[in-house]
Amino acid sequence: MALKTVLIIYAHHSPSSFNAAAKDVAMQTLTAQGFKVIVSDLYAMNFRSSATAADIKSNLKNPEHFLYGDETFIAWKEDRLSDDIKEEQRKVAEADLIIFQFPLYWFTVPAIMKGWMERVLTQGFAYTLESIYDNGILKDKKAVLSFTTGGMESMYLPDGLNGDINVMLWPLQNGVLRFCGFQVLAPQIFWCVADAPPSERTAMLEAWQARLKGMLDEQPLSFAPTKLFDLSVQGGFRLCSDMKEAYASQPYGLTTGQHLGKPLPPNNQMKASPHDNH
Ligand SMILES: Cc1cc2nc3c(=O)[nH]c(=O)nc-3n(C[C@H](O)[C@H](O)[C@H](O)COP(=O)(O)OP(=O)(O)OC[C@H]3O[C@@H](n4cnc5c(N)ncnc54)[C@H](O)[C@@H]3O)c2cc1C
Repeated sequence: MALKTVLIIYAHHSPSSFNAAAKDVAMQTLTAQGFKVIVSDLYAMNFRSSATAADIKSNLKNPEHFLYGDETFIAWKEDRLSDDIKEEQRKVAEADLIIFQFPLYWFTVPAIMKGWMERVLTQGFAYTLESIYDNGILKDKKAVLSFTTGGMESMYLPDGLNGDINVMLWPLQNGVLRFCGFQVLAPQIFWCVADAPPSERTAMLEAWQARLKGMLDEQPLSFAPTKLFDLSVQGGFRLCSDMKEAYASQPYGLTTGQHLGKPLPPNNQMKASPHDNH
């Protein structure tokens, strides 16, 4: 059997941080299991977070009206993307699983990791307009968000001060990862690490280590397949009417995003559903 490869995209400045410990546990556990592990340590690499014309080698097609998406799509086709982007794309192409390890910043990834997403997941490489979501180019790969929070878990419940964690996860898990086709695994969340007693922090890392041992066999989260939508401009890319009728009598919407004005399906972005019938 071919050697499986795991890519860890890691964003923390400090080797003594909890994020560094989570990254190290993943490296050690996966390596011990015989996986090839590659780490992109974004701060150590001084990875550029801004998507700019510097990402394209040689002449721009339209320098008067620079459009990053259009120019990088052409540059990808012509092998003119900058070397740092090409190197990260090479790592992604090799990976069976990508772990994003980061501290939660303003309800999302740190800017340096957002920059990695903006710059590396270019049109052509990660998606085309015809190849998105369950038809996305990276659909044979898995991805997981592994992150620490400042806030307590209870603050991210549907009645908590920060609001439902499922809503917070939707843009990253659906808008970025699933859009490119990734099979998105349930997130690994290390709640409120700075205030947790040392024994709890140790227990969190042990639970992470135990999970990593079976991670590549996990069922991904459930997202609405594109076949349920009218994928035409006239149809507005909206849910097909027969599906709307089928869901009219259901207590919940389809997903966190496609909630149909109903209560959100509980923990849709947190747990794989054994009853997924889409
Ligand atoms: C710009 C910004 C925006 C933010 N936005 C949000 C937000 O939207 N929502 C939110 O909830 N939080 C937010 N935060 C808080 C942030 O998410 C937390 O500070 C971060 O997640 C803590 O992770 P860390 O790795 O930096 O922890 P650290 O402070 O590095 O670690 C926590 C503790 O773990 C200890 N530790 C290290 N290694 C180990 C080990 N091997 N075993 C046991 N213990 C260990 C450390 O010594 C430390 O005592 C924000 C912070 C910033 C700076």
